[in-house]
Amino acid sequence: MAKHNPGDILTSDWNPVVGCQRYSAGCRDCWWLDGIMPWQIRLGNLPKIVVEGQPTDVEARFDPAKLRPKKGIVGVVQHGDLFWDKVPDATIDRVLDIVDEVAAEREARNRRRQEGRPLDTTKYVLWSKRAERMADTMARRYPKGVPAHLACGVSIENQALADERLPHLLRMQGRRFVMIEPMLGPIDLAAYAAVDWVVLGSETGTDRARPMDLDWARTVRDFAVARFIPFFVKQVGPSHKSPVRTLDGRTWDEFPDGFVK
Ligand code: SF4
Repeated sequence: MAKHNPGDILTSDWNPVVGCQRYSAGCRDCWWLDGIMPWQIRLGNLPKIVVEGQPTDVEARFDPAKLRPKKGIVGVVQHGDLFWDKVPDATIDRVLDIVDEVAAEREARNRRRQEGRPLDTTKYVLWSKRAERMADTMARRYPKGVPAHLACGVSIENQALADERLPHLLRMQGRRFVMIEPMLGPIDLAAYAAVDWVVLGSETGTDRARPMDLDWARTVRDFAVARFIPFFVKQVGPSHKSPVRTLDGRTWDEFPDGFVK
């Protein structure tokens, strides 16, 4: 479970839409397509019609009651990419309508809470490799800026993809973060410093996982530390089962203000 995995930034996730298609270098050994998807089908948690290359709406999950109990830091559509061009705009809106509805209920409860009772600070995070569509969608849906209960991330693997995608991240008004996983090359984020969080991780999961040079991670760490940007390292080694989480003798488990796992 994500909550109990110290290398995961999420407390839990919610996946009303599943499915994806390999898109860039980091997708080569996609953990979802190659691992979670066939396993969940075998368990009967996903219908057998789920296949690579086609998004599937899991109707039973399109229900605010399924999202309401999830608290902390909740990943929205982790089992795919919500901004993949095969996912219709109407489906994206359906997903975000439920997130906004449940967040509004929480805010109302926070306003009514008795003095001394803790605030419910639950945050919903989305991240995507399809940065241009994500930024376009957020601008259309939230012309005054992305609401505070949402954080938008863009996933990158190397410098070329950073330069292609991160300008779109910076078009989004609101809480935004960079997800570098799997890190497949050195990345200089100097042109993209206006972000609220940097998360980094090596490739894991298969015996052909491409190794991450620790100096690549150090460069990103030094960038984040110098600018007081919260920095989180998921893992730096190739093993998912025995993750190495320390970089130069310590772990990096920083979250933006108000994010409580
Ligand atoms: S974008 Fe993510 S979910 Fe989609 S194929 Fe690539 S790694 Fe897998």
